Amino acid sequence: MSAQKEIIIIGAGAAGLIAAKELSAQYKVTVLEARPEAGGRTTTQYPAPGVHIETGAEFIHGELPITLSLLKEAGIPYHPINGEMYLSENGELKQEEAWIEDWDQLLDHMSKAPETSTMLQLLDQYYPADQFAALRNHVQGYVQGYDLAPLDKVSVKYLYDEWTLEQGTNYRIENGYTSLINYLSKGINLITNQTVQSITWAKDQVTLTTQDRSYTANKVLITVPVNILQNESIQFSPSLPAYTAAARQIGWGTVIKFNLLFKQAFWKRDIGFVLSDETVPVWWTQSADSLILTGWLGGPDAEGLQKDLLEKALSSLANIFNIPNISDLLDQSFIHNWSTAQAIHGGYSYGMPFSEQAKAVLTTPVADTIYFAGEALYTGDSPGTVEAALHNGKEMARKIGAN
Ligand SMILES: Cc1cc2nc3c(=O)[nH]c(=O)nc-3n(C[C@H](O)[C@H](O)[C@H](O)COP(=O)(O)OP(=O)(O)OC[C@H]3O[C@@H](n4cnc5c(N)ncnc54)[C@H](O)[C@@H]3O)c2cc1C
Repeated sequence: MSAQKEIIIIGAGAAGLIAAKELSAQYKVTVLEARPEAGGRTTTQYPAPGVHIETGAEFIHGELPITLSLLKEAGIPYHPINGEMYLSENGELKQEEAWIEDWDQLLDHMSKAPETSTMLQLLDQYYPADQFAALRNHVQGYVQGYDLAPLDKVSVKYLYDEWTLEQGTNYRIENGYTSLINYLSKGINLITNQTVQSITWAKDQVTLTTQDRSYTANKVLITVPVNILQNESIQFSPSLPAYTAAARQIGWGTVIKFNLLFKQAFWKRDIGFVLSDETVPVWWTQSADSLILTGWLGGPDAEGLQKDLLEKALSSLANIFNIPNISDLLDQSFIHNWSTAQAIHGGYSYGMPFSEQAKAVLTTPVADTIYFAGEALYTGDSPGTVEAALHNGKEMARKIGAN
């Protein structure tokens, strides 16, 4: 009998772990992870009994088939989120959805834009800044906040697909996403604190070097965040310039997430989300009995804000809720600035004009030996999510399995 083939998976996020689970019947699988634990951008912290903090992913955005079926398979409870949308304007909180005049017309222009247009090009063509400041501000706020993207890089087609998609119910996992990561990690040969620095390869043979060891296998599946490929933090020998170039055609944004635990709830209990023009503009509540408010600052503004994060968050909340001494009510703060997160350095991907072609390159195996997967390589209706990572990891495992 021939020896079982070996594969190394780099990265123990959602994509790497589901691929490991799928491949373990056919391969001897080893997962190498740079950080001290599995999870990557899907990591829950448990600072006190009964309190959990989602440092990264928090929501399940709709009826997402892989995520929900894994939760069911694992018996992990999840529940729909509720709460109303509020707008903060001139020191007043109003229960209403953000509304953009000319929205339908904007979508119509977007549907007809060339595939290679950026959102800034479209706005400049139809909505000049001197006449449409409010519309442009609103679009910019949304694109930066939700997609983590600057207007001059994000593709119109990418935004059009996102904005015209029916949003279903959103869910949260009862004890956080780490329960799903723990389920996926079961029985997997995972080695943490191993940062892969280089890969020397020939057909069906790879040698990986980390800061203190080397590993060999027949194949390697690389599931690191796309910016690690953009920055060539892993060196290939022979080199793979077409893959690096492709990675650079995929947008990569950053985010700061604030979880502030208060001594008492000073907000109305029906509040779900609050949108504002403050430095930390978006806030949401957790469950009805939780004393945590979660703040979100995404995109170029998050890159620009690297100091006094707690002060900025508290003064945003003080203005929104009209409570000047809000810091007296604070119990603990948990701030996750993803631009400085080890081995990740950012939030998630967004579509640029040539991203789809780039994904086609990156998902083409190199000599049936080197494979790439992860959230940023996914094509479908749920980009930038855990579902995207699971879907892409699973798909790539199927491709590898056939070899
Ligand atoms: C703040 C924030 C909020 C989010 N909110 C949501 C949400 O509500 N819902 C949702 O669905 N998605 C959300 N996302 C996106 C979601 O978390 C990601 O799309 C998904 O977790 C990506 O999984 P992945 O496996 O592709 O990558 P990752 O989770 O990044 O896993 C890649 C792993 O590779 C490791 N690695 C990197 N370099 C090396 C190396 N050289 N050697 C070894 N290991 C290496 C990293 O440490 C990491 O663990 C959010 C993300 C962030 C940051």
